[in-house]
Parts: sequence; C-alpha cells; structure tokens
Amino acid sequence: MEKVMIVTGASRGIGAATALLAAQRGYAVCVNYKQNAQAAQDVVAQIESGGGQAIAVRADMAVESDILALFAAVDERFGRLDGLVNNAGILERQATLRDIDSARLRRILEVNVVAPFTCCREAVRRMSTRDGGQGGVIVNVSSMAARLGSAGEYIDYAASKGALDTLTVGLAREVAAEGIRVNAVRPGVIDTEIHASGGEPGRVERVKHSVPLGRGGKAEEVAGAIMWFFSPEAAYSTGAFLDVSGGK
Ligand code: NAP
Repeated sequence: MEKVMIVTGASRGIGAATALLAAQRGYAVCVNYKQNAQAAQDVVAQIESGGGQAIAVRADMAVESDILALFAAVDERFGRLDGLVNNAGILERQATLRDIDSARLRRILEVNVVAPFTCCREAVRRMSTRDGGQGGVIVNVSSMAARLGSAGEYIDYAASKGALDTLTVGLAREVAAEGIRVNAVRPGVIDTEIHASGGEPGRVERVKHSVPLGRGGKAEEVAGAIMWFFSPEAAYSTGAFLDVSGGK
C-alpha cells in the first residue's frame, strides 16, 4: 500500500510543487484547496498521468468542520495517513500596525495558526503509534518572516509564522516517542501568487537584490526541502528548521 500524505493549499505555488514531488516519491496525495477547484484538479491530473494516486478535496482552513471533513475524506479513500504538510497560508495587503484591525488579525491567525494546530491534532490521532498508527512525518511551512518580522509589510503574518515555529518545536518533543517527526521549512522570497495578495505581484523583482543569492526562489526548490524531511536521510531530525531563503 502506498504511503498517504495530505498537503494543505496544494492547488498552486509551493503546495502544488510539493504534491507533485510527493507523488513522484511514491505518495498518494490529498490535494487540498479552498476555491481554485480547476487548479487542484490539474494537479491531480498531473499526478495520475505519472501513474500516481491523488484526490482533490475542498476545505477552507479557516473552518474546523471543513478540516475534519478533509481528514475523513482521506480516511475513506485511502484508509491510512503517513504525512501532513501544513502549507496553506495567507497574508493580506501590505500595511503597518496602525492599519491592521483585529478582524484581519483573526483571519490571519485562523488560517496560519489555528488550522495547522487542528491539522496536526487530526494527523497525530491517526499516525501515533500510541493509538495504533504507524508513525509519520509532519512538515510545517513557516517563513523567514518569523525571524525577520516583516516590518512595514505584514507583521501579523510574520507573528503567525512565529507561532507555527513554536508549534513545531513543542509538538516535535511531545510526539517524538510516538513515531512522529515534526519539522519546519522556512522559505524566503519565493516566486508565487502570494505576493499579489499583499498588493504587490512584482514583489520578488523588487526585493531580490536583498537576497544574497540574488534572486527569488522557486516553489520547486521549497518542495525539495519539504520532501527531504520525509526521506530516510531525515530519520534523526525532529523539531528542526530548514531555511530556504537564498541566504537572507
Ligand atoms: P499561494 O501561491 O498564494 O498559494 C496558496 C495556496 O493555499 C493555494 O493553493 C490556496 O488555494 C491555498 N489556500 C489559501 N487559503 C486557504 C484556506 N483558507 N484554506 C485552504 N487552502 C487555502 O501561496 P505560496 O506562496 O505557495 O505559499 C505557501 C506557503 O508558503 C504559505 O504558508 C506561505 O505563508 C509560505 N511562504 C511563502 C513564501 C513566498 O514567498 N511565496 C515565503 C515564505 C513562506 P486556492 O488556490 O483554492 O485559493
């Protein structure tokens, strides 16, 4: 039986690249999305045309019942779970703290913090050897923003990723004896559509000169780092962080 992985926010960007690479490495993949059903179906079709297995499941990470339904769909279709990539994440228009209201803060925290907590809980319940599971791997997609703070752009987003880093450390220690490793990847400036959500689709071009390697990263380069944590070479890594930021 193939190993099974859930990738949240896998219709585009880093999540889609991760789902495709996971399938190449032999995982059956649950491709989660929020609204872009066609893009999610395209990822599934690419996986299937390569001989792999995948399903697309709509679930809004801001809604707990959607998350529970997503895991139930994987239970029903595949009957096992071996991996989770908490990749779905959002940011809003670039702003200083003066213009960030509590409604925005709650939207960011729901998707970037509460949802990964909920997904981790559901994955642990299924994968823990203490509960009869076979162990597994969780990778949280954080951001260099957690360390750099994103001043003048979105410190709410940066703070949410800081919380995700702390979840990574704490949960890694909590479930290490249950056959589950929990790690995080911290991308820097990666060329995806997320920058348009911040109101600046061309952001990568503007900031690339501040990156020591002199360019933005590609989604595939982040996917490779995420999948390293699923490899046998990462068997002794938990609570670890891999920065994929061109040196920034
Ligand atoms: P992206 O291109 O904007 O893609 C976002 C993905 O998440 C899409 O598949 C989208 O689905 C999904 N999504 C958004 N809101 C969702 C929700 N409420 N529920 C379920 N799915 C949702 O983003 P990306 O750049 O690939 O970023 C992926 C992760 O990397 C995020 O956690 C982000 O914070 C992190 N990251 C990115 C960068 C960067 O420079 N790109 C840097 C550091 C960290 P739909 O297509 O259906 O909308």
